[in-house]
Amino acid sequence: MAQVSKNSRTQSNTQVFHCTCGGEIKMRSVFSGGKLRNVAECEKCNRRERKPSDFH
Ligand SMILES: [Zn+2]
Repeated sequence: MAQVSKNSRTQSNTQVFHCTCGGEIKMRSVFSGGKLRNVAECEKCNRRERKPSDFH
């Protein structure tokens, strides 16, 4: 059981999110209000949301 949890752990580190358009969501750093913020952006339709989970 310990080995199984190790394997699932490495997979969750490379979690990939997808937009409703099917494009891959990448995390980007953008300046907003003088602060550097991380936003999630779809590389296909360029839609931006605060979190990758907001695309659903
Ligand atoms: Zn998209």
